Amino acid sequence: MSNDIWAISKAGDLDDAPAAQRSPLLDAKVMMVDDEPLMTELIQTHLEEEGYRNFVVTHDPREALALLRHEEAAVLLLDLMMPQMSGFELLQAIRADRALRYTPVIVLTASTGADSKLRALQLGATDFLSKPVDASELVLRVRNTLAFHQYHTRLANFDGVTGLPNQRLFDRGIEQLVANGQRVGGVVAHFSIVVPECRQLRENLSQSSADALTKALARRLEKLAGDETEAAALVTPVDHAPRVARLAADQFGLLIEGLASPRAVEAVAQRLIATLSAPVTIGRHDIHANVWVGIALAPTDGVNAETLRKGADLAVRQAQQRGGAHYQFASAELNANSYRKMTLGLQLRGAAERGELEVHYQPKVSVAGNRIIGCEALVRWNHPDHGLLPPGDFIALAEELSLICEIGRWVMGSACREAAAWGARGLGRLMVAVNVSKLQFQRGDLCTHVQQALFDSGLAPDQLVIELTESMLMDDIAGSLDLMQALTRVGVTLSIDDFGTGFSSLSYLKRFPLSELKIDRSFITDLPGGGADLAIVRAIVELGHNLGMSVTAEGVETAAQLACLRQFDCDNYQGYLYSRPLPAARFAALLQGRDEPHPALECRQLSGSG
Ligand code: C2E
Ligand code: MG
Ligand code: MG
Repeated sequence: MSNDIWAISKAGDLDDAPAAQRSPLLDAKVMMVDDEPLMTELIQTHLEEEGYRNFVVTHDPREALALLRHEEAAVLLLDLMMPQMSGFELLQAIRADRALRYTPVIVLTASTGADSKLRALQLGATDFLSKPVDASELVLRVRNTLAFHQYHTRLANFDGVTGLPNQRLFDRGIEQLVANGQRVGGVVAHFSIVVPECRQLRENLSQSSADALTKALARRLEKLAGDETEAAALVTPVDHAPRVARLAADQFGLLIEGLASPRAVEAVAQRLIATLSAPVTIGRHDIHANVWVGIALAPTDGVNAETLRKGADLAVRQAQQRGGAHYQFASAELNANSYRKMTLGLQLRGAAERGELEVHYQPKVSVAGNRIIGCEALVRWNHPDHGLLPPGDFIALAEELSLICEIGRWVMGSACREAAAWGARGLGRLMVAVNVSKLQFQRGDLCTHVQQALFDSGLAPDQLVIELTESMLMDDIAGSLDLMQALTRVGVTLSIDDFGTGFSSLSYLKRFPLSELKIDRSFITDLPGGGADLAIVRAIVELGHNLGMSVTAEGVETAAQLACLRQFDCDNYQGYLYSRPLPAARFAALLQGRDEPHPALECRQLSGSG
C-alpha cells in the first residue's frame, strides 16, 4: 500500500488540489448515528474542513442497520446513549450481520467510566472518541480507522503483484454488468485468458521476471478493456465495475458489455490475443506470450458469476488442449450454434413490435360431430433470414432471455382480437386457447394481462382458454391454486396441456379448477396398436370425465386414431388429420367453408364416417 493515503491535504488547498494529490480516504463514506442533530452537524463540519465530502446521517438508530447495508459506509461513528435504542445494541447487531460485521465502528461516548468503554470494546468497537469531541482527535481517529480499513479491503480484493482486482471483486463486477445487461439489453462477454509464460517464467527464470511479465500484460489488458468498453457502448457502461482481474498466476479475466453481435465478440477476442502476444522485453529476453481465451456469454451461458467463470475456464482449457484456434466459446453447443443462437437472441428482442411474430390457429374439433368448436393459438416467428420458425426454435431462448412474457402478452392480445373478429363476422362463437409459459405464470401479473387482452378485444372471458402444463402447477401448488382461482374469477377457462408427460399428483388434480385435459401426442401416436397406450388413453379420458373435465387428444394424424378416440368417448381432438395450424386468414376461410380442411382427402373420409 502506498503512503499517500496518510497524506490528507489540509483544508483550503482542497479545491485547487489536483485529484492525484487528494487522499482517496477523503472520498470514503462516513456514516453517523446520533440522536443529537447538533452533534452530527458539528462532527460533519470538522470532517468537511478536512476535506471529507461523503456523509450519511441518521438520528434514529432503528433505521441505522438498513441504511448501513444500503450505503456501504466505510466507517460508522456511533453514539452510545440514544433513547430509541442504545449504541451497544446496534453495535451487537452490526457484528452479528454477515454483510456488515467488518464495518469499522468508532464509538462516541460522553461517559468517562471505564465500564462502557470496556463493554463497547467487548462488542467489537474499533475505536473511541470522547464527547465533547476534540476536532484534531476526531480527524486523526477517522483517518487511521479508514486507512486500516482500506488496507484490509485491498488485501481482500486485489492482487498484490498487478494491483488488479482478484476473483472476489471480479465476481461482483460480473454480477453488476450482467444485471445491467439484463435491464438494458445487450450481451456481456466474459473472457478467461491464460498466458502459460507467466507461470513458466517463474519456474524457468525467476519470480521477478514472471512478475514483470504479468504486470506488463495487466497494463495492456487495462488499456484494452477501456478502449473496448468505450467502443462497444451499446449500453451505458456501469461505472466502477471491475473489468479486468488477475484470477490465478497465469490467468486473467476480462469483461466487456454491450457487444452487438457474435462477430463483435470474436473481434474482441482477436484483438485481445494480438495485444497480449506482442513481445514484452524482460531483461535480455523478448517474451512472445502464448495467449488462450475462453469466452462465456451472458445471458446465453448463464447469468451468475460462478456459471460464467466456470464456462469460460472450461473453454480456455479446451482451447489449450486442442491447440488450434486460440479462442473458444464456452459450451460445445455454443460453439456450434453460438452465432445463430446469439444473433437469434438479439433479433428476438423487439420481434413483436417489428411485426415479425405471427399466430397460427389449429382447429379443435369435436370427436362425435367432427365440427370445429375452437382453436389453439400457436406462435411463429417470421424471421427476416430464416423464414417461418416454429416455437420450438425460439420459445426456450425467449424464456432464457426473459422475453417470453412480452411475447406471451402479444400472443394473448392477438388471439383475443382475432377470435372476437371472427365472432363479429358471424363465423361462430369460438373458444380460443393460448399457451402460457412457466415464467408468465410465475410472474404474478398474468391475471392483469388476461383482463387487459379481454378488455381491449371485447372477447367474452368464457371464450378464452389458458393452457397450463403440469410442471408449472406442481412447483408451487398453493401459489398455482391461488392464481388459477383468480383466473377463473375473471371468467376464463383453464386447461392442462401435454397431460401425462409431467408427474401430476392426482390428488391435486381434483383441487385445481381445470375444465379441460389435453392428452399428450406421445400417447396418441401409436394408437390403436400398442396395448399400453390404448389403456393409458382410455384411463385418461375416464379420469378427466370423472373429474368433470372435457378431454382433448393432441396430434391426431390418422382416421384409425380418431376411431379409437371415438370408442373411448374422448370429447375433442386436434391434429394434422383435420388441419395443421393455419394463418388467421386461412383459418377464417376454413370457418367460412371457403377452404377445405387440411389435408382434404382424409377429412372427407372422416366426414363420411362421422
Ligand atoms: P402444444 O401447446 O402442445 O401445441 C401442440 C403442438 O403440436 C403444436 O406445435 C402443433 O403444431 C403440433 N401438432 C398439432 N397437431 C399435430 C399432429 O397431428 N402431428 C404432429 N406431429 N404435431 C402436431 P408447435 O406449434 O410447434 O408448438 C409447439 C409448442 O410450443 C406448443 O406445444 C407449446 O407448448 C409451445 N407454444 C406454442 N405457442 C406458444 C406461445 O404462444 N407461448 C408459449 N409459451 N408456448 C407456445
Ligand atoms: Mg398447447
Ligand atoms: Mg400440447
